Amino acid sequence: MKYWLFFIAKLVAAAALFAGIWAGMEAFLPEPAMFRDFKLGRFGQDLTWTTAIFVYFLAAAGTLYLAVLDQRYRCRTCLRRLRMPVNSGAWDKMLRIGTPQVEYICPFGHGTLNIKLVHFNGHEGDNWREHDDNIWRELEGLSAGDHK
Ligand SMILES: [Zn+2]
Repeated sequence: MKYWLFFIAKLVAAAALFAGIWAGMEAFLPEPAMFRDFKLGRFGQDLTWTTAIFVYFLAAAGTLYLAVLDQRYRCRTCLRRLRMPVNSGAWDKMLRIGTPQVEYICPFGHGTLNIKLVHFNGHEGDNWREHDDNIWRELEGLSAGDHK
């Protein structure tokens, strides 16, 4: 819940930022020129406005991309950035060792994110695994030999 609220808050902040930029564009850019009695449109007929709208669109799309990318690498519980990437698998020995993937972990041990670098069936979602609250139970399970 907190994870999605943070994402929505980022999107709302980005929307507010770009609403302000749009208001600034309307305030500072000159209106399109009049051609006889016909007022030219902003997009497609006025070079300044068309260029500004293209740059505005690219910046908005880039911001949305960065918001989604940042959200992907955050802990689902505490929202901290995931750390310590560990590569596993191999590109040249994919059938023997496994597909290449990167595993990130929350610095406070809330969970692990496994990102596959090879997608055979289209885009496969990220694999987020929550850790148990008691880390000693997992370690004792590993030493007893019943690890998953
Ligand atoms: Zn965490």
